[in-house]
Amino acid sequence: MRAGLRFFDTLCRRSSAGKNRFIIVDLTNLTIDEVSGLLGERKASAVEIAQAHLGRIKEKDPEIRSYLTVASEKALAQARAVDEKIAAGQGLAPLAGVPVAIKDVILTRGLRTTCAAKMLEEFVAPYDATSVQRLDAAGAVFLGKTNCDEFAMGSSTENSGFFPTRNPREPERVPGGSSGGSAAAVAAHLAVASLGSDTGGSIRQPASFCGVTGMMGTYGRVSRYGLVAFASSLDHIGPFGRSVRDLAHVLQVIAGPDPLDSTTARVPVPDYLSTIEDGAGSYKVGIPEECFKGLEPRVGDNIQKGMKALEKLGCKLVPIRMPHTEYAVACYYIICTAEASSNLARYDGVRYGFRSAGYDGLRDMYKKTREGGFGPEVKRRILLGTYALSSGYYEAYYRKAQKVRTLIARDYLDAFKEVDVVLTPTSPFPAFKIGEMVDDPLAMYLADIYTVTASLAGLPGISVPCGRTGQKYGSPSLPVGMQLIGRHFEEASLLQLARAFEKAGGFELS
Ligand code: GLN
Repeated sequence: MRAGLRFFDTLCRRSSAGKNRFIIVDLTNLTIDEVSGLLGERKASAVEIAQAHLGRIKEKDPEIRSYLTVASEKALAQARAVDEKIAAGQGLAPLAGVPVAIKDVILTRGLRTTCAAKMLEEFVAPYDATSVQRLDAAGAVFLGKTNCDEFAMGSSTENSGFFPTRNPREPERVPGGSSGGSAAAVAAHLAVASLGSDTGGSIRQPASFCGVTGMMGTYGRVSRYGLVAFASSLDHIGPFGRSVRDLAHVLQVIAGPDPLDSTTARVPVPDYLSTIEDGAGSYKVGIPEECFKGLEPRVGDNIQKGMKALEKLGCKLVPIRMPHTEYAVACYYIICTAEASSNLARYDGVRYGFRSAGYDGLRDMYKKTREGGFGPEVKRRILLGTYALSSGYYEAYYRKAQKVRTLIARDYLDAFKEVDVVLTPTSPFPAFKIGEMVDDPLAMYLADIYTVTASLAGLPGISVPCGRTGQKYGSPSLPVGMQLIGRHFEEASLLQLARAFEKAGGFELS
């Protein structure tokens, strides 16, 4: 068991294997390896682990508000099924009994999937997303669906159509977004791991704000089947965890080709856990000079320390150039809004969810439904995207953005001739106060500067905790995340390097 157990909700359990053996374990402070260990040795049951999490959710989530739906019944039924298999002597599935949370843009059969949108407030999907189905088959226990920005559009979870989520490290601050609920749930020990979605940073940025790890695989690595579409050429599903090994465990289960998503790649999925402890070796780590200009010291100082730690582990830091970085945010916001305007056309009051009352004819019904069902940020994006795609502007905006996207991808391909991994801060600043940026959408968009380039290039990225800001900078102690970006389909290298970094110590927060 890990040292430093949290005694405030430590449970004392009688081992089911022997009447006189007691173990002291906090069942809400477990890694996936520890869950497997406890179940395998029959020191705890999946139901006990699920109950401990449901109890903690009941106690802590009224303040944090990471969940939109808590699925107690489903969780306990899944946990019971795991315990029955163990009792019947069947081998443990890879995620047997692991309590997970799922971002509410990912379809779950029989459980609401709202996308944190009034438009889908009552929507219950008739099928599971492939990643959900794979988690289920691997024995995971679904605690519930997590809050996010409406249709995953935002960087703070304040655009949720229901309520904002609080950052468990500093409750008056945002958890980041758009997968803020998934990050907060893991940070607050309200789940062992979770699924988020990442279109332009929505896993990596909230992971950095909440002091946990989060990963987006290569585009095509994880099926998008059953992920409610925001910007299809950029959307990904990926994991959050309190450790890099936990990311590897979840990614292992959800990765791989899927006949239901033709954009998944037929690239074999390596055994991530078999190389994850191999150390930082002699990785060449590219440091793009464009990403450090004008960086706030409270972030920059921590990243510098992180870079030094990597050097100590044997990595070689190599200065590189990413000349098109300055166009990345503009490029991303043209492409993602264009795709969103097309994807969100389906919410017309006929096929899904909400339909406005009191309309006069079909056109009026569409109009009132979309006016009443979408929040302001989603409307803004539909308008921007429709504009960028409209005749006369298509060439000037959308086509140009596609060309810039290619140039950004080429920056990376050039960099990867010299280095194995590119390192940047995950976000230019740590978690900000709830309400601080809501009136300035442009400032919020600019916050995505370090995450959108990997998204546009279809490359895998990971965010790992890299220290905290502190009193020295006149702010409370807030987590800082370091982002590592790898070559296409080289998630294994990212996990290996991130794991070595995490193990080097001093940076993890949980
Ligand atoms: N913050 C970005 C946006 O608002 C990224 C969102 C995401 O990755 N889903 O579009």
